[in-house]
Amino acid sequence: MINQNFLKLQSSYLFSDIARKVREFKAQSPGTDVISLGIGDVTQPLPQACIEAMHKAVDEMARTETFRGYGPEQGYDFLRSAIVSNNYEPRGIRLDLDEIFISDGAKSDCGNIGDILSTQCSVGVTDPVYPVYVDSNIMSGRAGSQTAGGWERITFLPVSAENHFIPALPRKHIDIIYLCYPNNPTGTVLTHEQLKEWVDYALREGSLILFDAAYEAYIQHDGIPHSIYEIPGARNCAVELCSYSKTAGFTGIRCGYTIVPKELTFDGTPLNALWNRRQCTKFNGTSYITQRAAEAIYTPEGKEQVSQTITYYMENARLLREQLHAMGYEVFGGTDAPYIWLKTPQGTSSWQMFDKLLHEAGIVTTPGVGFGPSGEGYIRLTAFGERTDCQRAIERIRKL
Ligand SMILES: *Cc1c(COP(=O)(O)O)cnc(C)c1O
Repeated sequence: MINQNFLKLQSSYLFSDIARKVREFKAQSPGTDVISLGIGDVTQPLPQACIEAMHKAVDEMARTETFRGYGPEQGYDFLRSAIVSNNYEPRGIRLDLDEIFISDGAKSDCGNIGDILSTQCSVGVTDPVYPVYVDSNIMSGRAGSQTAGGWERITFLPVSAENHFIPALPRKHIDIIYLCYPNNPTGTVLTHEQLKEWVDYALREGSLILFDAAYEAYIQHDGIPHSIYEIPGARNCAVELCSYSKTAGFTGIRCGYTIVPKELTFDGTPLNALWNRRQCTKFNGTSYITQRAAEAIYTPEGKEQVSQTITYYMENARLLREQLHAMGYEVFGGTDAPYIWLKTPQGTSSWQMFDKLLHEAGIVTTPGVGFGPSGEGYIRLTAFGERTDCQRAIERIRKL
């Protein structure tokens, strides 16, 4: 027998629908060069420091004296120490090395963390949302059955211009809450005070927050928390999921880490021990070569190179945001995240706007409604492209 929950999943047509529309357009208009501001993947190469660290690690693998086989399931201490002293200690956050679990990226752990949580738990997500949070809960049976508006056991918390993209606290109890800040897809952030409301809710309700900090490195402004542990009490209610994918272009290399504080106890059992047990059974660690590459991000050269690439992307974001705003579009995000969330002109749906930009400007975007019903009337633009492509896209939109 199969896991019937998989049959409940709606086929995700979003990116395949986009790809089909782009293919059809290219067939109709051969020779048009299409600019993609659609996909959330990075384009700039890895920092040189990471490349050098990987070359060195490969050479170590070539000699008996320095060869490494299976590593610790939780990750090497050289990387865990670098994380503590570079990402947490400077923000006044105390972490023990065994609260850090090196992963092959945040997406895996977003889904895997559900292994150690009851399938009876209720779930809350924002709408629009990164689809992994919803689909992984459907797969495990935690979503219940589908209802007219969504899922029996998943509460969708709408975010849009109407509430300034700040999700309202639920009026009822929710067991597991996913928060992603800076946010994909909207590119918006929560201030320290706004995130504190959620930590206080979770502490009051005995809920668990799964905090996705994949875009933390893009934060430019003070007062925006990089880690949920900047909020007092978060060690008692939150797991943090981090990734080098967007920070340092590791989307193809695969490395991230998950923080499970020791205070985090449910049903009298520390989650840290459960997660450790789960990892030791189902995960054999991220490759040594990859962890050396990640460690190099924290060297002075690595930091400088990472910062240059992020500055490059954030300049794209600034150009898109300011130029589109000057043309009269309402735009959100893009100040502390590499995404721009553009409100479509009155009466235009997400897909109509997508089609217009594709057919009349040769630009690929992502329709907001693909991330949830409250994304209707928006499109997402990414700042992960080449500068010249951003500039050309802006000129084409100006001519529309
Ligand atoms: C890109 C992204 C991640 C990172 O995924 P990896 O598996 O680490 O590549 C996590 N969460 C969100 C919301 C993302 O957009």
